Amino acid sequence: MKHYDVIIVGAGLIGSALALLLAKDSNLKIAVFERSPQLEYNLHPNQRVVALGSVATGVLDDIGILSKFGREFCHSYERMFVWDENSEGELAFCAAEQQLERLGFMIDSVQCTLLLQQLMVATPQITCHFQSDLQRLQLGADGATLSTIGGACHAPLIVAADGANSWLRGQAKIFANHHDYQQQGIVARIQTSDSHQDTAWQRFLSSGPLAILPLADNQSSIVWSADNERAAAMMSLDDEQFCESLQSALGQKLGDVTLRSKRVAFPLQSQKADTYFKRHVALVGDAAHSIHPLAGQGANLGFKDIKSLSSLLVTSEKSALGSLTLLQKYQRSRKGDNEQTDLMMSLLHTLYQSNMPLWLTARGLGMSWLNASERIKRLLIKQAMGL
Ligand SMILES: Cc1cc2nc3c(=O)[nH]c(=O)nc-3n(C[C@H](O)[C@H](O)[C@H](O)COP(=O)(O)OP(=O)(O)OC[C@H]3O[C@@H](n4cnc5c(N)ncnc54)[C@H](O)[C@@H]3O)c2cc1C
Repeated sequence: MKHYDVIIVGAGLIGSALALLLAKDSNLKIAVFERSPQLEYNLHPNQRVVALGSVATGVLDDIGILSKFGREFCHSYERMFVWDENSEGELAFCAAEQQLERLGFMIDSVQCTLLLQQLMVATPQITCHFQSDLQRLQLGADGATLSTIGGACHAPLIVAADGANSWLRGQAKIFANHHDYQQQGIVARIQTSDSHQDTAWQRFLSSGPLAILPLADNQSSIVWSADNERAAAMMSLDDEQFCESLQSALGQKLGDVTLRSKRVAFPLQSQKADTYFKRHVALVGDAAHSIHPLAGQGANLGFKDIKSLSSLLVTSEKSALGSLTLLQKYQRSRKGDNEQTDLMMSLLHTLYQSNMPLWLTARGLGMSWLNASERIKRLLIKQAMGL
């Protein structure tokens, strides 16, 4: 039996960043188990990009990752423009107007995970097990025992960072409410003939939201959400036809569009766990909550989770790491915020799905009113920046 202070299951963005935060601020002995092989050095930008606000990028900076990205993997954005296909409503945000340097960074999520995993492997306090095959979790009075094909290990606290379909959450018998939006998010890299102006563009189409996330060299990453049937039809178009329909969905705002990567479609679901803890077990990131990507908040919420959990763990006595008191504090600091964001995403989704004439007028007026109100805009910017 091997003994650790904290075991983390899942070395995606959130699990890896948690391990590094803990190692940086404490002498805790940490083990990380990841089902997939370690990511290998990848010079090519990927389709999947996450828009990260200041809490998330603050965490990446804190653990020494933010300065390690090549320019094609991390791009700051200064403006956001939201408009509606079916009404006159428009919303524009600008960092400079709020005396900010930027609204956030667009970060290649594969490259980010790769850098985090490399740093974990080079950190002596962290023992990494890639291609792990976890068998069973047992919870006892003094902690959690995890059985793998190769043996067993024990810790006073085990953290589930293994994503929306968390194995560990199931083993701990924590129930999660699941909602399938019956939509897919089509993700791809594109190049546009007109400048993206370091602006995140979001258009609400009758078929679902379309986001254009600005990257270096006037490239952008798109997340185009549509119901399953329509998404399948869009995926079956050839590249030229797809670019034509993207151009017209953007109302020609960014000129001609060329694809710079393959298209990949992700099913869109939301999930929320009943509780974020049990004695000796904590849930973080998508294992605790996953939401519709329409405002790009999922990973931002996960980074807030690990910031809160790690600050409690590094100041705790080792004997209290998996205690109910500590884990209750963690849940209190995060569950309300996560559920409020999930509710907002569901409301926005419902609001923009409806094409009833009265709704359309209200939507257009509402957006124009929001655009004119500096105070509300400041609140929305805070939300968009993941603050
Ligand atoms: C189309 C799309 C666009 C998005 N855009 C944004 C955005 O702009 N901004 C934003 O903030 N968020 C965005 N998100 C959400 C964001 O991608 C997720 O919230 C985030 O990646 C969750 O990270 P995670 O580490 O919690 O989970 P995951 O990324 O799912 O990682 C879980 C890890 O656990 C491993 N694992 C799973 N099971 C096991 C097991 N049994 N044993 C060991 N390891 C296991 C997996 O291999 C994986 O490495 C988007 C999501 C989608 C679908």
